[in-house]
Amino acid sequence: MFSLYLVIPCYNEQEVLHETSTQLKAKLEALESSGKISGNSRIVFVDDGSKDRTWEIIEELHRSSKIFQGIKLSRNRGHQNALLAGLMTVKDRCDAVISLDADLQDDIDAIDEMTDKYLEGCDIVYGVRSARKTDTFFKKFTAETFYKAMTKMGVEMQYNHADYRLMSRRALSELEGFKEVNLFLRGIVPMLGFKSGCVYYERKERFAGESKYPLKKMLAFAMEGITSLSVKPIRMITTLGVGIFSVSIIMLIYFLVRYFTGHTIQGWTSIALSVWAIGGLQLLAIGIIGEYIGKIYLETKARPKYIVDRYLDDKE
Ligand code: UDP
Ligand code: MG
Repeated sequence: MFSLYLVIPCYNEQEVLHETSTQLKAKLEALESSGKISGNSRIVFVDDGSKDRTWEIIEELHRSSKIFQGIKLSRNRGHQNALLAGLMTVKDRCDAVISLDADLQDDIDAIDEMTDKYLEGCDIVYGVRSARKTDTFFKKFTAETFYKAMTKMGVEMQYNHADYRLMSRRALSELEGFKEVNLFLRGIVPMLGFKSGCVYYERKERFAGESKYPLKKMLAFAMEGITSLSVKPIRMITTLGVGIFSVSIIMLIYFLVRYFTGHTIQGWTSIALSVWAIGGLQLLAIGIIGEYIGKIYLETKARPKYIVDRYLDDKE
């Protein structure tokens, strides 16, 4: 028997918390009575600076049963940081942690299999979406393109795995050693190594509330993921630069030939076009390099990724 903590980041999730807490409590109690996990397993909600009644609901839940705990962050820091705050706060209190979203889009029955794999000796168990029948075409397309792009950029990632995973206490304390401020958990966890396994499930629809990941946040997330784990974009720019330079040498020869044969008036179109094309490419290149310099800037500051305001644990 081992103690299992469930960590759930919540941002403006007042519509879903009652249902989510009921289902998760039933799940933990079932696991407990089947003798797999011990009685001091807990469900920990991390309030990521919500503006609605999320924290009040968490406090009520905590008062109603000690199975529920709450961590309140001092302000909104985004999904990845909220998740990390939860993991790092509870890591020394239990044997394993499963992280999942508040909206239960990820099938909670996969928890049984995850615990089985843990008992078989896996330190990390990834929840993998086998089907996305209920996602909109757009969500499915953008998400799958994202996983493919990440792999192309040389980031080792589990395909179609979001942040639904089990991590052992040992894996979590190693995770703590990754001090980067630009944190992208899905890319970092595979770097830990250890024995890992996968559990497949079908992704469901959000039963209430809206997605907290609009397109803008999704793009920012993808950009963050790529630039915090891969230097390939910078290499691509270098390759592009070498390519364009080679073309310009060929062009130079061509221009000289034209000059000596006396056809110099024509050619305005090609010049105007190249001014725009090269200008655009240069801006793009500067932008990508700037992205990395920005990252270095933030890393040198080594600011804390989150600040815990309150932790409602067994003692409170
Ligand atoms: N979330 C968070 N902070 C944020 C945005 C989202 O803690 O700034 C949480 C949110 O409450 C949910 C999880 O991250 O538990 C995933 O968000 P969501 O379900 O909206 O994303 P989707 O499933 O649409 O990708
Ligand atoms: Mg969701």
